Amino acid sequence: MTPRLRSALLLLCASAFLPVPSPASADEGQWPPEALATLGTARWGELSSRGLAVTAKDLWDGQGGGLLTAVLGLGGCTGALVSEEGLFLTNHHCAFSAIQLASTPEKNYLRDGFVARTRAEEVEARGGAGRVLILSRLVDVTDRVRGPKSAFAKAKGDAARFEAVERAKKEIVAECEKAPDRRCAVAAFEDGRTFRLMEQVEFRDVRLVYAPPRGVGDFGGEEDNFRWPRHTGDFTVLRVYVSPDGKPAPFSKENVPYRPKTWLKVASKGIAEGDVVMIAGYPGRTQRYLTPSAVANQEKWFYPLRGRTFSDLIAILETEGRKDPDTGLRVASAIKSYGNGETNARGQVEGLARNGVLAKAEAEAKELAGFLASRKDLPADWAVAPAELERILAADRAGQDRRFFLEEIEKLTSVLGSALSAVRRADERRKPDLEREAGYQERDLDRARQRERDVTRSLAPSAARKALAYLVSKTQAASRERPVGAFDAAFGKEAAVEAIEAKLSEMDAATALGDETVRLANVDASWTALAASNDPYLKLAVALHPYLVALRAARKETDGALLVWRPRYLSALEALRKSKGKAIYPDANSTLRVSFATVKGYSPREAVTFTPRTSLKGVLEKERGAEPFATPKKVLDAARAADFGRWADPLLGSVPVGFLTDGDTTGGNSGSPTMNGSGEVVGLNFDRVWENVAGDFGWNPERSRNVNVDLRYALWMMERVDGAGALVQELLPSK
Ligand code: ASP
Repeated sequence: MTPRLRSALLLLCASAFLPVPSPASADEGQWPPEALATLGTARWGELSSRGLAVTAKDLWDGQGGGLLTAVLGLGGCTGALVSEEGLFLTNHHCAFSAIQLASTPEKNYLRDGFVARTRAEEVEARGGAGRVLILSRLVDVTDRVRGPKSAFAKAKGDAARFEAVERAKKEIVAECEKAPDRRCAVAAFEDGRTFRLMEQVEFRDVRLVYAPPRGVGDFGGEEDNFRWPRHTGDFTVLRVYVSPDGKPAPFSKENVPYRPKTWLKVASKGIAEGDVVMIAGYPGRTQRYLTPSAVANQEKWFYPLRGRTFSDLIAILETEGRKDPDTGLRVASAIKSYGNGETNARGQVEGLARNGVLAKAEAEAKELAGFLASRKDLPADWAVAPAELERILAADRAGQDRRFFLEEIEKLTSVLGSALSAVRRADERRKPDLEREAGYQERDLDRARQRERDVTRSLAPSAARKALAYLVSKTQAASRERPVGAFDAAFGKEAAVEAIEAKLSEMDAATALGDETVRLANVDASWTALAASNDPYLKLAVALHPYLVALRAARKETDGALLVWRPRYLSALEALRKSKGKAIYPDANSTLRVSFATVKGYSPREAVTFTPRTSLKGVLEKERGAEPFATPKKVLDAARAADFGRWADPLLGSVPVGFLTDGDTTGGNSGSPTMNGSGEVVGLNFDRVWENVAGDFGWNPERSRNVNVDLRYALWMMERVDGAGALVQELLPSK
């Protein structure tokens, strides 16, 4: 037995709480840190034979150490600490709003890029990338949340069950956050069959260090999004700052660069086809164990509606954004994120159909019914779980269009969005802190204030008005059976978009919510104060609030019922799969995961084979001089002059730009470090291929490919194009 195998075996014996999965087929599976030790000696042996030189313990030692503690959680994305002095890498699209918020029409870092030549020039990063989390501890809290003695077990009724789980989660979080600088969360795994506490340290002073121009960082735009071959330089460099005594602190001039215990080395050598890699990050959501009707609903209802709506919203925002540069900048992040959602939605619809996901779910449901009928030894409630689940989901679908549009209104960057969240917060504040909804407790105030500050740089009144008018009219059309009285009163029944917009114009002229100080004051305002306000948007928000409360109440009932029946269904499915020698692993849930993969190409369709690597040659091939394929002149000049420095790849004869691996990733994995077998960073994951968009519903060795940017492209840009030699020296100190 090799020492590596022996240590894997020892860890296996000491392993904690996940059920031991049988070895995953190929590279399928997104493994939680503590599950790595349970993968089995065969799997670790196989990975080591492919060149993996790290052990489960090297990655996560269970004591707050290991390479995974260099992996950062960002709002909806991932990052990786890569220097002794707190530098971290993430995608350009993950730092997009931070770059936008730091830009003005005169100093347009989004268009032109940003290079801090000294520490003093590093600028405050806001938005999602402006706060980062490092995971320090994982604890199984299932027993406390839903064990036999829990409030959940005793609760009567679905809403009460939901509340019992929420209450337990909030209590656990509150205890965890007694330690300084902690930001904790309890995550439901396996649809609520198990729960884990994630203890995280939060850093709130993040600064922008280097961003490529948009013509590099977003090269190809939506046209290339979710596509291969890819030539996007989707990277950005930021730095974490702490107080002079080394503690996390809000932004302050006195703060100093953070010196992490663990950071990932940047690989001095590149990768090659066939190399083993690891991708570590925070995948958002996969749904691999759905019932047939749930699959059908995604394919026929959710994604088509999302795609259509986002496409309409993009058209509205783009039209407004073209009118002047300031508006253009203000709506840039929203367009980018609707664009990503719209492309993704199209990919999902196409992929779900192409991959026959519904037919597979139907076949498995039939098989499951037969299996459960033949296995009387299994719990009786497993046998009824599939039907119960379908019943709950069918009820939940009633009125789903109306709910969809109302929720989009809440999410829209607009003064109404601010007013709604202020009103909701004020309403929640009337309860004791632990009874308030998650996201609306005292611990969330700081974030709420930050959001209002960020809104100041993204508010574009004319664009918001048009987008809101569109969504209100859609809501009204979807609410004939259950009218939203607040809208009918404000705009008239089934009002025309133009009439809604005219009314919103009057409201815009009268509101004070365009003013940041007013919005900030509202974050702390009492219910009485807001309810008495004469501001037209606050009035509308107060009137709309009960409709949204009712929507959430219905959702809580559904979620309470799902907490009972989804785990039973999953257990039944697991028993079936086990009977066939197959395992179930936890769906992605925005918690830290590791995926093992190989650098490899694929065949998207008959007679077409994609090789797995691209280079600057391809950038020049795609270049059109017009968006989204407009590379800045300085980059073109360096590429055409073959000024590659030490960054060229001998096999490609140019600077490597992108590479494909067969990782099991999804949205949220953006910015994940792609590490070589020794745990050194070779690239950043930023996307998947078109045939893998619907991989959320099932991994497949033939088409599951994720797209990475090669770090040598980033280093080349910094050194040869932008002359940021000191930064390269910090990232690669030995050279
Ligand atoms: N580009 C994607 C995103 O940002 C990443 C992925 O879906 O794999 O959501």
